[in-house]
Amino acid sequence: MSPAYFDHNATTPLDERVLQAMLPFFRERYGNASSRHEFGRAARKAVDEAREQVADAVGAHPSQVYFVSGGTEANNLLIKGAAARLQPSQVAVSAVEHPSVIKPAQELREHGWKVKKLAVDHDGRIDRDEAANSLREPTGLVSVMLANNETGVIQDVASLAELARDAGALVHTDAVQALGKVPVNFPALNVHAMTVSAHKIYGPKGVGALILDKRLDIKPQITGGEHEKGLRAGTENVPAIVGFGAACALVASHLASNQMQMRERMDQGLHAMGAVLFGNGAERLPNTSYFAFPGIEGETLVMALDRAGYAVASGSACSSGGTDPSPVLLAMQVERELARCAVRVSLGRSNEMSQVESFLQVLQDEIFKLKRLAALAV
Ligand code: PLP
Repeated sequence: MSPAYFDHNATTPLDERVLQAMLPFFRERYGNASSRHEFGRAARKAVDEAREQVADAVGAHPSQVYFVSGGTEANNLLIKGAAARLQPSQVAVSAVEHPSVIKPAQELREHGWKVKKLAVDHDGRIDRDEAANSLREPTGLVSVMLANNETGVIQDVASLAELARDAGALVHTDAVQALGKVPVNFPALNVHAMTVSAHKIYGPKGVGALILDKRLDIKPQITGGEHEKGLRAGTENVPAIVGFGAACALVASHLASNQMQMRERMDQGLHAMGAVLFGNGAERLPNTSYFAFPGIEGETLVMALDRAGYAVASGSACSSGGTDPSPVLLAMQVERELARCAVRVSLGRSNEMSQVESFLQVLQDEIFKLKRLAALAV
């Protein structure tokens, strides 16, 4: 039996149709999109078409789409680039943001900015009242993610954006995990900027986009060319951009909503086995279950499941001193010991209910074995 892949929030397999769209741009259509000759013009046309496909997928105008190397770069570009054009004040980011938002925000301290982490409740939702309170302080920039990569919890970005706009701040949302799983509409979110990435939507790795409000002035972080209207220098990765466009064109007909039934069965099975489910009281992505079995380390369970043929993720990050519990769970006031036990299952297009059923069976056996081992060790 081939292993079952349950880690689609980490990355997704390339859709065959996306691969087919990309292949000619590795072979005969290899022109540089900046060249004036036929080869170059063909590449430029393909990049322009991809820009339209990305814009269509998020309800934006193609002129608002800037191609970059992925979600991490888009987040860095927005935070550092927007801050560079503003007087230093407060930058507010939710406590559960991806490190590619948290780190650049923290780096703004070197430029005189104050960093405010917006608190979340026990289910991982940003506390609106507390956010309103935090935004009384002069705030230049706010970044709140649309859906969390670990818990799958969806934030009410439009309403938080209204708060931020009232406070006179620029608002950004990281929609990397939301795109392809739930409808994402740039204008409806009421933000000035949004990040998306191709490899989470069955596209290639190493390409993403920053979607920008037309009036927004951003300082480029990579200079040395006039690519992407001078916002991001560097020869365009044409095959990857074409793949990103093709993946975006497939998004609307493949939303993860058809994974909801499997997710519900997963949650029900986990609950019946005594797992603690994180973010269970909040609206979540239809593909994500994040859970823990108290007393069983997440890393240990991930390795046991891997040996049994199931690819899932733990919530811990490896560090020199061992494993650190997930900052997302700590922000949700989950006890450190329980946070260390976190495991994430993220379903995708190719998963089937029969895999969920066999996974639950295997999980039960593994939990039983690990609990017995733990009892023997006492
Ligand atoms: N933002 C979120 C919420 C993510 O989950 C990820 C990837 O895991 C990123 C940003 C980074 O995107 P990329 O891998 O394209 O750099």
